[in-house]
Amino acid sequence: MSISEVNGRNVRSDELHDRALERSPGGVHSNVRLRGPHPFIRSAKGAWLFSVDGRDYVDYLLGQGPNFLGHAPDQVIQAVSAACRDGLIYGGQHEPEIQAAELVCSVAKWPDMVRFSVSGTEAVQAALRLARAATGRTEIIRFQGHYHGWLDNIFVGEHDGTWGAASAGQVADHLRPCHILPWNDAELLVEKFEQYGSRLAAVIMEPIMINAGVIEPLPGYLETVRELCDRYGVVLIFDEVISGFRIALGGAVERYGVTPDLATYGKAFAGGFPVAAVVGRQDLMCRFGTGEVNHSGTFNSSVMAMAAVTATLTSLRDQPPYAKVGEHGRALMSGLLDIAARHDVNLRVAGLPAAFHVSFGDAQVRDYRSLQQLDLARYERLAAALVDNGIWLAGRGVWYVSAAHGARELDAALTRFDKTLEEWK
Ligand code: PLP
Repeated sequence: MSISEVNGRNVRSDELHDRALERSPGGVHSNVRLRGPHPFIRSAKGAWLFSVDGRDYVDYLLGQGPNFLGHAPDQVIQAVSAACRDGLIYGGQHEPEIQAAELVCSVAKWPDMVRFSVSGTEAVQAALRLARAATGRTEIIRFQGHYHGWLDNIFVGEHDGTWGAASAGQVADHLRPCHILPWNDAELLVEKFEQYGSRLAAVIMEPIMINAGVIEPLPGYLETVRELCDRYGVVLIFDEVISGFRIALGGAVERYGVTPDLATYGKAFAGGFPVAAVVGRQDLMCRFGTGEVNHSGTFNSSVMAMAAVTATLTSLRDQPPYAKVGEHGRALMSGLLDIAARHDVNLRVAGLPAAFHVSFGDAQVRDYRSLQQLDLARYERLAAALVDNGIWLAGRGVWYVSAAHGARELDAALTRFDKTLEEWK
């Protein structure tokens, strides 16, 4: 049922949706948005989205993460606009790309070198290829519920308890070198390394599993992974496309104190512009430079992308928003729980203030499997009702907080949440 059928307020969105369906499959340009909220957006600023039907939404989806500084941050827009006047893409080197790479290394603290790409999906591919080239091995470990982009050799889903290709048309053979394990189980990992550790090129993971449930690593887990990778000569890749520069300035590496060999970044470090990066140790990264390992891309390190990264990281470094984001996130998490308790609804809110997960139930959640014990389908229905009442969210339960969220947004979000539960229970 469309939203206008529910409340008659999104007539223009419905018209646009019908028109979009004529020319774009599903009316969308990313399958992630297929089941997403239906209203069409006219503009966005700070923590707010404004629809073509004249409605406003407090945004806790943030474009799936990139708008960590809020929508259209002035300092980034100005820097990109100014840089663009000198050209957009050169097919040659330019000083701003050095500046952006230097900033990534100095702000994140641990990497020696950077290669920029356009999407996180590509950055992950570059990291995997590099790990395979460096080790001369092909097998990798990746984990259930972690997302590393939509390409054949890494995209997985669960069907009736079995993990494998997640899309029709995906070449399942490309997943053959991929061991898909439950995450956060150190004993299991030790066992698997004993079986085939010497055949592994890489272990890749979201060091905090944000995409499914915002689940933190158990104490000691990342240390065990690090130690096993060292012992068996395996490249450890942290996919920090979501967590990087968001959960702390230094991402998961700073928060958990474990350093990978390679990492991927994206989203929060470019103020909403399409940029990602693979970063890491010099002795690994230099293989891109000799030409031994190919990493290419027409649009890599475009003028606008580099200006966006430099402006965003300068802002995050010089005016760190982390205390403010933490304060807002904590107040929001406890506010949602208080309201739910008043309505006698068993809401579960877990994770970090900068990225948390909302669902129903009380299971002990430590991995993808235990996450399924929660009532995720019920939350998906709640999320649709929340969108209807002016809180912009996706159905999978993750809420992102930005530097632009303040007291006004908190008040609006809690009032709208209260109203939704009142109508919805
Ligand atoms: N890795 C992680 C952890 C992600 O969350 C995502 C996207 O959500 C990706 C990789 C893929 O990034 P992109 O959508 O930019 O290709």
